[in-house]
Amino acid sequence: MRKIVQKSEFVAQHPQLFACPICGAELTTDQTSLVCINQHRFDLNKKGTVNFLNAPVATEYTETMLTARRAVLSAGLFNPFVDAIRAELGPNNRVLDIGCGEGTPTARLAQSGAATVGFDISAPAIKLAGALDTAAFFCVADLAHLPFLDDSFDTIVDLFSPGAYTEFSRVARGGRMFKVVPNSDYLMELRQGLYAGTDKASYSNTRVLERLLAAYPTAEIQPLRYEFPVDPMLFSQVVEMTPLSWQAPTDKREALLANPPAAITVDVSLIRVHNL
Ligand SMILES: [Zn+2]
Repeated sequence: MRKIVQKSEFVAQHPQLFACPICGAELTTDQTSLVCINQHRFDLNKKGTVNFLNAPVATEYTETMLTARRAVLSAGLFNPFVDAIRAELGPNNRVLDIGCGEGTPTARLAQSGAATVGFDISAPAIKLAGALDTAAFFCVADLAHLPFLDDSFDTIVDLFSPGAYTEFSRVARGGRMFKVVPNSDYLMELRQGLYAGTDKASYSNTRVLERLLAAYPTAEIQPLRYEFPVDPMLFSQVVEMTPLSWQAPTDKREALLANPPAAITVDVSLIRVHNL
């Protein structure tokens, strides 16, 4: 089936998800468009994705970085925690993946059978996501103004994206959230290789966790740590994919690429919120 038809059917089969970003009314399908009662219209493109922003937003994510990210995530860098979340999803769930980027984790979550929507503010990221062979639906949207109706989802997934908790609780009130944040040793081989001796050599998630716990005091925090083996080619793509590398001194970056580690450390907290 053509993707544009497949994604149009996704919207038809899951009513009361999408909200018009202009007037807030429900969006339903009309052929290959989403349209509200006030005739605001958003067309699906050939890949079956839709852009809900009224003007493009420039982001720091380049094509090179997104392609590197696709390679590294396809190789499985995030699989342990994505699979832990997927194990708690089923066909009756409606899942929203916040800031989904190029969509590899979203597609993996959708394998649970859950109705899965991923959005990102980066149009190039959603273009790449649209090329994936997955049942998930992808759109370009703004974290602060989610184009979804109140109570439209039961599960929020937020992997490394900022928390817009008022909006999360609006679109999934009473639902749950799985949020992943970096711990201090996340990608430590990069931090130490690129920034040894500077204040960027260490990272603390204290403020992120404080803000989360202020919004959701009963959140459960599960530490998760593993080593992910990388060959030199894959390591160079890890360097390429993260904003951590972009401001690094060129000599440090070249020295690190010339002498790559055999594995990189993934050190994160998997946080569960049970009642948004
Ligand atoms: Zn409208």
